[in-house]
Amino acid sequence: MSEETPMMKQYKQIKAEYEDTFLFYRLGDFYELFFDDAVKAAQELEITLTRRGSKNEQDIPMCGVPYHSAEHYISTLIERGFKIAICEQVEDPKTAKGVVKREVVQIITPGTVMEGKAIQEKENNFIAAMYPFSDQSAAFVKADLTTGETAGAILNEDVNEWKREILRSDIKEMVVPSFFEIDELTVSSMVFSEEDDTDLQPEFKDLCSQDSNDKLKTAFAILTNYFKRTQKRALSHLQPLLVYKPHERMQLDLHSRRNLELTETMMENKKKGSLLWLVDQTVTAMGGRLVKKWIEEPLLNTKEINNRHSLVQSLLDHYFEREELRDRLRHVYDLERLAGKTAYGNVNARELVQLRRSLQELPDLFNLLAQLNNSYVKELTERSNDFTDLRQLLEESLTNDPPISITEGGLIKEGYNEKLDEYKEASRNGKEWISRLEQQEREETGIKSLKVGFNRVFGYYIEVTKANIPYLPEGRYERKQTLTNAERYVTPELKEKESLILGAEEHSTNLEYQLFLEIREKVKSYLHPLQHTARIVSEIDVLQGFSLVSERHQYVCPKFSQDRTLSIQDGRHPVVEQVLDQGDYVANDIGLGAAEEMLLITGPNMAGKSTYMRQIALISIMAQAGCFVPALHAQLPIFDQVFTRIGAADDLSSGQSTFMVEMLETRQALSMATPNSLILLDEIGRGTSTYDGMALAQSIVEYIHNEIGAKTLFSTHYHELTSLAETLDKLKNVHVRAVEEDGEIVFLHKVEQGKADRSYGIYVAKLADLPDEVLERAETLLHHFEAASGTESSTRRETTHEPETTPSLYEDDTSVSSSTKNEGAEQLALFQTGQELEHQEK
Ligand code: ADP
Repeated sequence: MSEETPMMKQYKQIKAEYEDTFLFYRLGDFYELFFDDAVKAAQELEITLTRRGSKNEQDIPMCGVPYHSAEHYISTLIERGFKIAICEQVEDPKTAKGVVKREVVQIITPGTVMEGKAIQEKENNFIAAMYPFSDQSAAFVKADLTTGETAGAILNEDVNEWKREILRSDIKEMVVPSFFEIDELTVSSMVFSEEDDTDLQPEFKDLCSQDSNDKLKTAFAILTNYFKRTQKRALSHLQPLLVYKPHERMQLDLHSRRNLELTETMMENKKKGSLLWLVDQTVTAMGGRLVKKWIEEPLLNTKEINNRHSLVQSLLDHYFEREELRDRLRHVYDLERLAGKTAYGNVNARELVQLRRSLQELPDLFNLLAQLNNSYVKELTERSNDFTDLRQLLEESLTNDPPISITEGGLIKEGYNEKLDEYKEASRNGKEWISRLEQQEREETGIKSLKVGFNRVFGYYIEVTKANIPYLPEGRYERKQTLTNAERYVTPELKEKESLILGAEEHSTNLEYQLFLEIREKVKSYLHPLQHTARIVSEIDVLQGFSLVSERHQYVCPKFSQDRTLSIQDGRHPVVEQVLDQGDYVANDIGLGAAEEMLLITGPNMAGKSTYMRQIALISIMAQAGCFVPALHAQLPIFDQVFTRIGAADDLSSGQSTFMVEMLETRQALSMATPNSLILLDEIGRGTSTYDGMALAQSIVEYIHNEIGAKTLFSTHYHELTSLAETLDKLKNVHVRAVEEDGEIVFLHKVEQGKADRSYGIYVAKLADLPDEVLERAETLLHHFEAASGTESSTRRETTHEPETTPSLYEDDTSVSSSTKNEGAEQLALFQTGQELEHQEK
């Protein structure tokens, strides 16, 4: 058996400690991977798999990546959910005896990666920790290492709540104690890591305020211990743990999030087309991250919401200031991540110039804000710092366009440090002397083609072509290098100047590096004020964006009702109205007074029922996030939760039967909703047989009406259910109007009082060009069913034997005409009804 080399021994020792990672083992200018790591990495990264070359190691699979381009490969592995241990040479190979000492200096994981393509400008990179306790509760803490923000909450014994907290923000990695059964938590594609050390280290103790109890501290401890173990450096940018209660924010289950397309579209998972896409008019990366958070976590506290609205209004009133504010904000870089990088010790000079640029904007920015005369802004900016000292330091010290590398000079301005200026002067003088040398030598020797040059290996030289060598004077010229057609020489004076120049340059780059490190240390002492300012700036940025969309699309400031009145006049779906041609969107009212809870919505397929339901939810979410809303007037309750059960398209891939999913979602709403919730149920029961479905739909309506009393919108094609209004006093019928013209159905998209006249199933089928035979037969059967059930009246047909599942057939069918005529003028507007009711109550 061949013997193992000392290096392989070292490799194996280190690898044994990092089983679950790719070990990037530094070997000269490469990171090498061996054995299984190599086989797997070669596959993932599409790089060549080789074998270790030395005689005894022929069998060891190996692959490698150059260290200077390693980031790209690391990012790729991280994106695929792998972890990487970076193992560096920690002593100088030239002076090392035996194998060079190596250590793992950092473990990079999906939740702790600091740069590269895994980090999106407008997205947080969250890592979380969860610790379950014997009383079935759990402590949950999340953090973003790139920005330093941390937050934590105690979750109750309901696993659904755990899942909801996890899903509320996109978490890349979850740290748990090893005894934790994680199966229940696999709700997203996050990576799991284990950490059992629950002792909170002294340096993190101060980050836990009085609000954090022992449970939270335990979760915070495993998270920070994991950081320590993997990052192996001080994490001075971690911010104090923000303790929150999940119920302080509007709760949105996964289905609602997806279905209402809050941050991405349902079909393509793209931001474009989502509510976030519409309301995110931020110009900074920090603002971009915050607006996403606000949409994901609408507020419940009226005062906090009103603060945001008041600033949106002020910015609407101050058009010019807002425009200037936007211009100034454009020059503010990502202060949060710059602070994070500074703490990490990997911020470069170019980034500090970005910091300088950002700080230069702050005084004007705060002046502009003061001009708004808004009391909330005053409160917000009260304790802000203007960083005069830091700004001056960066202005005096850093050049305007420094290179990315911090070890090759070009970083520090002249006049900042005397010694440095001396070195630079010496090198400059030497270079000037050399630039004069060529002319001088030509004159002295009479050789016109004589050249003075420089290369990295041989330094400065005088080059003379072979033909001219005889003309050189004897003695002074020492031969240095021979080329095919020329010889290169040095002279004693040239040698002297050379060593002066090179010496000065080396001293100068070394000193620049030292000075840069000092500057970086100084910046470090501003971390917390920088983070504080970053928060203010991002909030201002989000709100100027809200103000801009509100102006652009004519939104109004919503008012909040104490008595749960929900009354919207001319409400619109914010995103659908944007994709339709201008003016094509039909605005609709809703009026549910304090004593009314439910709308039963009927109307043909494609009439606009689910758009209407979604629009009510979106208006509420926008309002509680602090934005104005697409309506002429809106008075809203503060909703604690929104539940939706709309459509089925997204369930097709989940493997569960559509009907089962429908029932699970419904159960969630029924078990968790409170009187302050909003429930949207679309076509419940259509996934099963008619009577079955209808029976379920009716009992669900009754249950919500009698037991929960939450504001509920319930759309149905079971027209029989409309008679429930006679017995359930908090339920109202509305329908989305459609008219029949020359055998064609025209959707008016207008929501009106009362129930729909009839079901249009067969007409819709006709529009879809089903064979005439099928349509005629369906007509006959319909009459037959109606006669049999005895519900037929000569004026109105209410029977609904639509196909059990009614796919959206007509999305692209231009023959489906829609009308924007306000046909409802003769009808009493729903909104008015709402107001009347309110009136009566008083
Ligand atoms: P339903 O739920 O009744 O089947 P949808 O709400 O899915 O119908 O609406 C069908 C289509 O009608 C939508 O894709 C949209 O383009 C259009 N639509 C819906 N509501 C309106 C409206 N208020 N104004 C204009 N077009 C609308």
